[in-house]
Amino acid sequence: MSTTNKITDKITNKITNKISKKILLIVLDGVFDRPIKSAKSRDGKTPLQAAKTPNFDKFTKKGVGGISDPISPGVVPGSDTAHLALFGYDPYKFYAGRGVLEALGENIPLYPGDLAFRCNFATTVTGAEISDRRAGRIDNKSASTLSVAIKHLKIGDFDFLFNHTMSHRGVLIIRGKKGNTPNPRITDTDQHSLGPINWSKPMTDDESARKTANVLNEWTKKVYQILKNHEINKKREKEKLLPANIVLARGPSSLVEGASYKGTAVYDGPNLSEPVSIQKFEDKYDLKAVAIAGGTLYKGVARYLGMDVITVKGATADINTDIDAKVNAVKKELSKNDFIFLHIKGTDVLSHDGKFKEKTKFIEKIDKKIKPLLELADKDTIVVLTADHSTPVSLKAHSGDPVPIVIAGTGVRPDKVQRYDELSLAIGGLNRIRHINIMPIVLDLIGKGKMFGT
Ligand code: ZN
Ligand code: ZN
Repeated sequence: MSTTNKITDKITNKITNKISKKILLIVLDGVFDRPIKSAKSRDGKTPLQAAKTPNFDKFTKKGVGGISDPISPGVVPGSDTAHLALFGYDPYKFYAGRGVLEALGENIPLYPGDLAFRCNFATTVTGAEISDRRAGRIDNKSASTLSVAIKHLKIGDFDFLFNHTMSHRGVLIIRGKKGNTPNPRITDTDQHSLGPINWSKPMTDDESARKTANVLNEWTKKVYQILKNHEINKKREKEKLLPANIVLARGPSSLVEGASYKGTAVYDGPNLSEPVSIQKFEDKYDLKAVAIAGGTLYKGVARYLGMDVITVKGATADINTDIDAKVNAVKKELSKNDFIFLHIKGTDVLSHDGKFKEKTKFIEKIDKKIKPLLELADKDTIVVLTADHSTPVSLKAHSGDPVPIVIAGTGVRPDKVQRYDELSLAIGGLNRIRHINIMPIVLDLIGKGKMFGT
């Protein structure tokens, strides 16, 4: 071998070795915000701008930043649709509804033909009007006791299986006999509003949709009859607490009966024009993937895409979550997987509660704790730090604002942005992208980009 060849080989090897092998996607749910200008002390800053984040900033200097529209400009995303986009699945094509995601997140067995709903224990005075959508955020124990009374009811040809999950939350499964499956194309009984109950209606001119809407309404009325006289509710009323005397359902979606599965699951829901086959994340990208999340919905989205889900002790999907335990889980899983999704929920919780100061503090805590993960960008991992969507504390709700993103690791062309916040990153080298673009970008960085043309 000539000297020139040897040198070329050396360089080639060096370059080959420099391609990162793994991807770590860190999602800080709803961390991004709008500047608050009214309060003097807040100086027109967002919580992220008000926070001291030396590790996020150091990471930003190494990486390339920008802003990303979760769905498309101005569209207000749910956490579910935004996460589908983050994983490279077009939410308009693949979002079947909340029901199956909740069931999967709670590991509730779903069989072909099952129709799943996310539910809330709520408060009604007459059985016709809703006065509180969460029954005063009823405690776990009382809700669990109440759920026993409605665990399995039969309406017509259908079985109604109710699973209490946490606090006021639950999952309802409607199961029919073979050939008599419930239809997901119906409206919710929980339409996020107080006042008269929005009874379910068929969304298509179809006998099975009419029947499903009717039995859901009948079940709701039966549940009220059972719960209104329940001793737990009598006790709550005596204690001046809101009774949890009705259950509202939303996000119907189903595992399709009679579909050809062949390794992919087929789902249907009112958000879709026709049932969809979900290709597993692992097959779509040839990446072994794992999710580390405390919240039901995020575990559900991951299972929907066929990812493994790791249960971390102390991961609560709240502000008391054990971030150290999650960081350790990431480190452990990194040797066995190609793609790690780490989700932290507390930022969104504090935003929905309108807590600016607490959100700022929590951001500082995350900055400190995830330092070792951000440093993985110096080794063989592409690290992405972003959010599913913005949740401004001023709105106490999600907004359609684009979210900042930084990608760092070998192969990344850094830009000149120095700080990890909403305004600084708006001029980053990624410019303005969409969540659906993130997977192709990181796949390209680990040498798995797809060539178009020859
Ligand atoms: Zn979210
Ligand atoms: Zn939220």
